Amino acid sequence: MRVLYVEDEEFLADAVKHNLEKQGITTDVARDGEEGLEMALKEIYDCVILDIMLPKLSGTDILKRMREKKVQTPVIMLSALSEVESKIQHLDKGADDYLAKPFKTAELVARIKAILRRPSEIKDDELRYSNLVLDKSTMTLNGEQLTAKEGEIMVELMSAPEKLVSKEHLLAKIWGEEGLGEDNYVESYISRIRKMLKKIQSRAKITTVRSLGYKLTD
Ligand code: CA
Repeated sequence: MRVLYVEDEEFLADAVKHNLEKQGITTDVARDGEEGLEMALKEIYDCVILDIMLPKLSGTDILKRMREKKVQTPVIMLSALSEVESKIQHLDKGADDYLAKPFKTAELVARIKAILRRPSEIKDDELRYSNLVLDKSTMTLNGEQLTAKEGEIMVELMSAPEKLVSKEHLLAKIWGEEGLGEDNYVESYISRIRKMLKKIQSRAKITTVRSLGYKLTD
């Protein structure tokens, strides 16, 4: 689970990050609105937490631009402005939840978990592992286009993360009979995928299990 927290108050950002990570939620912090928007548009997060009053671009504007660009990541808005009106306004604009400052971290964690449990937020055609998001309908990995075969290999690896996926399995599944004995097919595709992982700054990597196959690890 990975969340983005856009917050300019350094002390608060650090405290929340610390608490979320204790709960096993990887937390990236952006300190201003522009940086926050750029990171949110990468669509690698399970949830985005937006402070409203931010330098350069407000949380409200980030939310607006995310939804304009069809980024459907769940958003929790935070604000010291606790008026009911402000809350309604943001929920109307596509926020999933709203929390008034000051808040207890436990409350924020509970809200994040509640949002991630909503079945409507989970897309069938998406596979997630570490900071990777593979969209099976478009074969894009964190927004980068893969070839059909690269995509199929990633589907196999991401469907069984941290488990050995044998070369034979990949060959049979992706190349069928024409793949028999052609281990080098798999190797060359794996090396291309590794380059892609590097390019998108993936934390996950493909580990070679000697003469057996591969494992996707974080
Ligand atoms: Ca602020």
